[in-house]
Amino acid sequence: MTFDPALFLSRCVSIDLEVDPKSARLFAFAAVRGEAALVHKGAALEPALDRLEAICKGAAHLVGHNILRHDLPHLVANRARFAGLGAAAIDTLWLNPLAFPRNPYHHLVKHYQDGRLQVGHVNDPEQDARLALQVLADQIAAFARLGQEMPEALLAYHHLTTRGEASAGFGALFQSLRGAAPGEAAAHGAIRRLLDGRACNHRLEQTLGRLSNARNGWPMAYALSWISVAGGDSVMPPWVRLQFPQAGLIVRHLRDTNCGDPSCGWCGEKNNPNAAL
Ligand SMILES: [Zn+2]
Repeated sequence: MTFDPALFLSRCVSIDLEVDPKSARLFAFAAVRGEAALVHKGAALEPALDRLEAICKGAAHLVGHNILRHDLPHLVANRARFAGLGAAAIDTLWLNPLAFPRNPYHHLVKHYQDGRLQVGHVNDPEQDARLALQVLADQIAAFARLGQEMPEALLAYHHLTTRGEASAGFGALFQSLRGAAPGEAAAHGAIRRLLDGRACNHRLEQTLGRLSNARNGWPMAYALSWISVAGGDSVMPPWVRLQFPQAGLIVRHLRDTNCGDPSCGWCGEKNNPNAAL
């Protein structure tokens, strides 16, 4: 199986909306698909949404930075058909901590605390839409490297990010990168090996049991990335703590409470005051 990132990206439409935070009025947007760009500002929203539908037609994925919690809901509020067009959306904000665990702030962008882009210019939706495509291209390259260096981490992310809400777009991306989705047993086995010696084995079994709740998938992916790939010494981005508070709770559960079992390697080493001396 060969994966062609350029082909994948050619099937994406990147979207950025400017919304008045007080009135929730959509007053400007841009969409970028390959070299083509659509920019709307001001009045006459309905014909602009017609053109947006046209540029999205036949695309596999709508892409955006925070698209799942910002752009897509506003788009759907203005035109319900975008729920269908956005059914396999890919959010580059959600992927960033997995793609760049040591520095989740992509070098091209800064973030506000809530995850919005802050790129040193005033409201240029076309530039932001192009930027999101560039970020996605860099994330794909980072995941391809991870697939070489730590294939079990990529396998675990594939499983953990495709269990809950809005999973179709992420599922397509990881399937392109590494093939069919892994089963639960394979994913849990990979997670156990990735966290071996880095977390409490007993707490890990409890946490794996709680993954039957699909909402715990993304938080577990962030916790896994933070512990196993970043080595637990970088800073979890504020928006992760805001939008996925379970991620921090999982990290603490896995590492900070002594299970009391003398045969547990992590707790014997890390939570024993004598061993720390
Ligand atoms: Zn333990």
